[in-house]
Amino acid sequence: MEETSIKRDIRRLKLEELKAFFVQQGEKPFRAQQAYDWLWIKSAKSFDQMTNLSLETREMMKNHFVINHIKVDKMQRSADGTIKNAVTLHDGLVVESVLIPTEKRITACVSSQVGCSLACKFCATAKLKRQRNLSPDEIYDQVVAIKEQAELFYGRPLTNIVFMGMGEPLLNYANVTEAISKITNQKGLGMATKRITVSTVGVAKMIMKMADDGVKFNLAVSLHAAINKTRSSIMPINETNSLEELGQALAYWYQKTKSKVTYEYVVWKGINDTLEHAEALLKFCKIIPSKVNLIEYNPIDDGEFQQASDESLNMYMDLLERNGITTRIRKSRGKDIDAACGQLANKG
Ligand code: SAH
Repeated sequence: MEETSIKRDIRRLKLEELKAFFVQQGEKPFRAQQAYDWLWIKSAKSFDQMTNLSLETREMMKNHFVINHIKVDKMQRSADGTIKNAVTLHDGLVVESVLIPTEKRITACVSSQVGCSLACKFCATAKLKRQRNLSPDEIYDQVVAIKEQAELFYGRPLTNIVFMGMGEPLLNYANVTEAISKITNQKGLGMATKRITVSTVGVAKMIMKMADDGVKFNLAVSLHAAINKTRSSIMPINETNSLEELGQALAYWYQKTKSKVTYEYVVWKGINDTLEHAEALLKFCKIIPSKVNLIEYNPIDDGEFQQASDESLNMYMDLLERNGITTRIRKSRGKDIDAACGQLANKG
């Protein structure tokens, strides 16, 4: 057996486990703490960076562990300032992450899985098929890389994180929440939980689990249709997680967390651009306090779906706003480099 194959990824160890390992190796526990701080607070990519640890300690770590840091192999910059990263993982698989700058914010859009199992008909990532879940450190590293790019290219701090890249975060819940806990910890990136949004296709039982866990990050649900027949025809998940079940899960979410939800919704020509659909959305929005982001459709090239007319969008806007639902039209960012919602597909 090759030596490397038995080395563990050091960042899979909890602090307590690392301390125990250090003690077993005849080291002081506080040395483990120092190594841990290098790994998380300073995002060290090699043991040699850990200059406050002796050469012997670093050697000992090298003999037992590896640091499976992600590599940003390719970076593309859009005319609107959006940056898309192709991120290579230790096993050679690739995911994408995006930096989205606006006047007030810099948002990191990160992936949670390699590919996706959900098969939403309008999404490019769906065509990739799910290969595996990302580990907490692979998620964390995407945020670190974008935080560094924000400082380097924009001279501004990273302000927000959205789990709207590849994959379904609630089907990799343990790793996503573990990553968020590291991102928000003072011994990590120290970011505010309220600046983090997890977007889901709407896995009802996981929304209830999040409610039970009392999570503090924001919840967004990709709704796209509030009529079962239509939603099932474009999002197969709806066949097993109907709008009724989703509604019940959201009611439970609100009862437990008192946090509102954001619905992501694309209006397509001939699919959901009628008053009947807008009224169904309004009704769904009344289940719990919510707001709506009407997202511009980013064509993924088979021509089956087309962005609805401005009149249809305005019809939605008027109806929702008149009934007290905050509604925003979200223009795509980074479209020219295939970095917009639903376009992440490891092209090229
Ligand atoms: N699986 C999660 C996370 C992905 S987020 C979820 O479904 O929420 C990506 C967002 O972009 C989702 O709201 C998704 O529905 C939306 N989206 C997918 N394909 C799109 C496309 N071609 N144009 C615009 N939005 C799209």
